[in-house]
Parts: sequence; structure tokens; C-alpha cells
Amino acid sequence: MKRREGSKAKKSAFDMLAEELGGLAAQALRRRLQVVEEVLPGGSVRVEGQVLLNLSSNDYLGLAHDPRLIAAAREAAARWGTGAGASRLVVGHLALHEAVEAKLALFKGTEAAVIFSTGYMANLGVISALMGPGDLILSDRLNHASIYDGIKLSGAALARYPHRDMARLEALLAKATSAKRRLIITDSVFSVDGDLAPLQELVLLKERYGAWLMIDEAHATGVLGPTGAGYAEALGLTGRVDVHLGTFSKALGTLGGYVAGDRTLIAYLHNKARSLIYSTALAPPVLGAIDAALDIVVREPERRTYLLFQAQAFRQELNQAGFDTLGSETQIVPVLVGSNSQALDFAARLREKGLMAVALRPPTVPPGKARVRFSLSAAHSPPDLAKARHIIRETGRELNLIP
Ligand SMILES: *Cc1c(COP(=O)(O)O)cnc(C)c1O
Repeated sequence: MKRREGSKAKKSAFDMLAEELGGLAAQALRRRLQVVEEVLPGGSVRVEGQVLLNLSSNDYLGLAHDPRLIAAAREAAARWGTGAGASRLVVGHLALHEAVEAKLALFKGTEAAVIFSTGYMANLGVISALMGPGDLILSDRLNHASIYDGIKLSGAALARYPHRDMARLEALLAKATSAKRRLIITDSVFSVDGDLAPLQELVLLKERYGAWLMIDEAHATGVLGPTGAGYAEALGLTGRVDVHLGTFSKALGTLGGYVAGDRTLIAYLHNKARSLIYSTALAPPVLGAIDAALDIVVREPERRTYLLFQAQAFRQELNQAGFDTLGSETQIVPVLVGSNSQALDFAARLREKGLMAVALRPPTVPPGKARVRFSLSAAHSPPDLAKARHIIRETGRELNLIP
């Protein structure tokens, strides 16, 4: 009897969690892991035995399976080991880290750069190092979750401005006279809709009000700009942005986050960014892959040219068919659907026909504005993309999403 009570009490602790999961399921918001059984050439995957054109990947340049990255990772492991053995400030800062960071600074057109284990940790580290209580962070409402987690960790006050709304941002800046430091943060390419931050106006505002400007180039690194350094490079604004952040986990096909900028900024992060200081240095094989990816990105601009050309054709065809692709200007192309269930239904039917795309629902997007998002890759062939466009149009008509 006693034993039964004990096991009952133990079970009820997890019952609470099960109940919460049940609540999520009831709102069609429960998520489950799905196993990718095989990664196939041409940007396809096998899931539950079915081959799908993967339109949900961030491997925008198709580098994650490039033999040159794989060879570089192997060589770095053979020479430096599979682990760095310590954090950067202890004895984990290998000559390999030093060399790749120097190459990265050159690539970004900045004085210096520092590599974190992930983009998520880079955002946590830099925001919480630079800002604290008494400071104010002005953040675009659609910025990535890791930016919001960094802001929370910093203890600074937060003012979220409506997506890309420069008039509201200016009003907030004009009002915020008591804050010690002011930092404006924006994604350069937004992950939800593939639209672009108004970077020119942001630079003018930050200069007029004496604030810092930080941009997250996670989806732009490798994709935008003459050498692939990102959107700031594309607009010739590199020197007028204070903090450049990005990742190697998307277009560069591997893992790791970076911050690039002034030498003093980077030295400060070495001293103050806790996600850098209290975490083991990035593993050598990953650094080897980053090193090779940086070379390829600079030397093979045809990858991003092809990607952006295909993205434009994709948008154009879907727009002509009657879809609303929102403000997309990049390789991320959303299609506005409306209700959660319609978006899920659309994604499910596309999957039946061999396309892997995600339905985005609240709270990621506003209620009633659920959408399906397509991410293109340079690994996708022209016939596969033409077929995808056809399937999307056909399915849209079947569901009465378009005429
Ligand atoms: C993916 C992403 C990150 C996180 O990068 P990881 O390297 O995947 O941790 C940060 N910011 C933005 C805008 C992203 O899209």
C-alpha cells in the first residue's frame, strides 16, 4: 500500500508535464522529433522511407556534404584531435582557432573576430557582456529567439519595436535619454519571412542618437554581399555597424557562431562573454570545416548567385499563381496561408507529394497569419525546383488557397 502511494506520488510529478503536453496537442502545437534516415544528394532527405525534397534546411549553399569540408574536418581532427580540451582562456585556444578567427575578420572586413560554439551562444555572450541593468536594448519584434534570450540574461531594459518600423524605433530612441548605453539589435535577413532589415536607416538612426547597432547575419552570411560576408557588405555599411554576428551553421554548412568588429570589442568579449569563457573551445574538426567553407564562399560566388536567382524565380511563379510571399527578398520564401489547421494541412499535402516544408504558427507569427515556409538551397537542381513550384501551385489550388 505504502509502496503504491510512493510510486503514485512520483508519477504525478510527470503527470503534470504530460498534462501540459496534452494541452499543446489539443491546440495542434505539440512538436515531435522526426528521424531523418538518410541525407541524399540534391538537397533531399529520406524520412519514414519517403524521399523528400528538403525545403526546410538552412544548408543554403549545399556545403554540409561538400567533400572539401569533410576532408578539412578530417585533417583538423588528425592534427589537433577531436576536442580542444579546455576553454579558450585556459589552454583551449589552439593556433587553429587563432588562424580561423584571423581569416574570419578578413572575410568580414573587420579588425577582429571571435568564434563561439553556436550562434545561440554568440548572442547570449555578446548581449549579456555589453549590456546590463540601467541600459536599454531596442529590438525588432521578429528577431531570433537567441537574441531575446541574450537580452533576458543581460538584465537590460527591453523595448521591442514593430517589425522594420523605423518611425517607432526613432520615437523610442528619442525618449530613452536616461539609459546609460543603448543598443539596437536586428536580424539582417529575418528567418520567418526572408525579408531584409532597413539597414541604411538603422545606421543613420544609431549615428544620430549615439546608440550601438548590432546585426545578426545568420541567414545572410555566405549568401549576400559580393564576397558573401552578408547584408552589411552588400550595402557597403560594414564600417558603420558596431557588432556583426553570424553563424557557420547555415550557409557555411557546419557549426559555430561568430562576433566580428573592432579590436577593443573582441578583447572585451574575451574578458566578459560568459558563454565563451565558461565553455570548451570549439572542436578542431568543426574549425577545419569552417576554414574550408570560408575559402569556398569567397571563391565560388556562383553558388549564391544561383541560389538567389532560383529564389527570385520561385517567388515570381508563386506570386503569379496568386500566393502572398510577404516581404521575402531572399532564399527564404514564405507563403501566407491563414489558419493553423490550413497551414498544417498544406504542409502535410506537400509532404505527401514529396516536399518537406514547415508550417509556421503562432506565437512565431501573429494569429490568423500562419504560413508555410520554403528555404531554398544551391544543392537543389533546376528541374527539382521547377517540380516543387508546380506541386505547390497545384496543392494551393486543391486547398482553395489560390484561384
Ligand atoms: C539560427 C540562428 C541563430 C542561432 O544560430 P545557431 O548557430 O544555430 O545556434 C541565431 N540567430 C539567427 C537569426 C538565426 O537564424
